[in-house]
Amino acid sequence: MADYDLVVVGAGPAGAVAAATAARGGLRVALLEKRRLPRHKPCGGGMPVPVQRELLGLVPEAVIDTRVRCMRHSWCFREAVEAPIDPPGTPAARSRALWMVQRPRFDQALVQRAVAAGATLLESHAFKALQPTAAGVELRVDRGMAADRGAAPATLRARHVIGADGAAGGVAASVGLRSSPRVALAIELEVPHRWDPADPLLRPDRLHLDYGVLRRGYAWVFPKADHLNIGAGVFHARHRDVRRDPGARQRIRAAIEAYAAALGVDPSRLAGLRAHAHPLPFWDGPEPLHSPDGRVLLVGDAAGLINPLFGDGLFHAIRSGRLAAEALLAGDPCSHTARVHDELASDFEAARRLARIFYGLPGLTYRYGISRPASTAVAVRLLGGEIPFRGLGRRALRRIGRGLLGEARRALPHT
Ligand SMILES: Cc1cc2nc3c(=O)[nH]c(=O)nc-3n(C[C@H](O)[C@H](O)[C@H](O)COP(=O)(O)OP(=O)(O)OC[C@H]3O[C@@H](n4cnc5c(N)ncnc54)[C@H](O)[C@@H]3O)c2cc1C
Repeated sequence: MADYDLVVVGAGPAGAVAAATAARGGLRVALLEKRRLPRHKPCGGGMPVPVQRELLGLVPEAVIDTRVRCMRHSWCFREAVEAPIDPPGTPAARSRALWMVQRPRFDQALVQRAVAAGATLLESHAFKALQPTAAGVELRVDRGMAADRGAAPATLRARHVIGADGAAGGVAASVGLRSSPRVALAIELEVPHRWDPADPLLRPDRLHLDYGVLRRGYAWVFPKADHLNIGAGVFHARHRDVRRDPGARQRIRAAIEAYAAALGVDPSRLAGLRAHAHPLPFWDGPEPLHSPDGRVLLVGDAAGLINPLFGDGLFHAIRSGRLAAEALLAGDPCSHTARVHDELASDFEAARRLARIFYGLPGLTYRYGISRPASTAVAVRLLGGEIPFRGLGRRALRRIGRGLLGEARRALPHT
């Protein structure tokens, strides 16, 4: 007899939603987390409003730090354009203002929902290895990594395992899945901040994005209640795993410092702050997301579900967590890969095509795409899955072509 119907490894958003959905459906669930909660996770914490549908009734006010109503885009901190997310007069209930959350609080709220639904939370329990058995899977677990050092590994038995252990987790590798992931790298700095209504640039409802300061990536400044989340990432690099690019960290860190300075943040405020670096496993085409016997399913970052254009992963982590639990509740674990591909991946392919254009020709994309007033609202609807990426690559190339042609015509001497 298995200890559990399901062990979910990793209590991030993907794991917490998977555990809550499965427990609500009547499964005996353990939610395993190697760290003590709440824990820090390097992340901008920005999300589109439609994520609310997936949050198991969580009240937004309980987790939202700030709502972003406009975006300020720039190219090497110049040519700045600002655009609102909603058209003027949009009622609050219809607003697409982006959610800004702080991950420790957001993740903790989701874990509490899983526990309230009946899941058993095992904190400070690190997954080490797994072994198939006739009835399911045996997991070897190290208990009490921090508090209880030296404790003997425990063994848990389960019919199924959901690998929600993030970008650097080990569940996928233990069953031979995702052997060569494409990995981007981002760094964030949390700079304590007091909002000054007289500041012309920094506002709690405005986020900043710069596309020229870092090759093959971008930099951001996200507003939080008590700090600025300043970050940057190399997303579409020539290295399959950006962590192997020896200069990447330094370039990213330099972009963050330059952004802070460009927005008038005194460099002394950055001194001594800890920079958090973290890999982002970008979507890199369809691949199996469950073991052939259906015992192990992957979700979230562990499944490589980072959008290849924007680099966001929270919405997809949460959706894939729900999908994996639903496949188990339906008694059809081997449908997991197809369910994820149907719901998320077909559009990721189009996003990947657009990413090649965007990161390959960033200056032109900025000039003829991003800086157009309508682009901000389109980007927010893409983020929330309200409109598809399909067709956008061709349109972007046509627009760049038309723009260049117009410039050439203007440059030609009139005869
Ligand atoms: C700098 C940065 C900024 C980002 N900004 C955004 C953003 O603004 N918006 C957005 O949508 N996405 C953003 N992302 C991506 C987003 O953070 C991830 O997509 C998201 O966290 C994925 O959730 P997850 O539940 O799959 O994994 P995680 O949130 O990584 O959770 C995995 C959990 O598994 C645990 N774990 C790992 N190994 C083990 C083990 N062996 N045993 C037990 N537990 C284990 C970890 O401790 C962790 O709690 C950003 C990423 C980075 C790096």
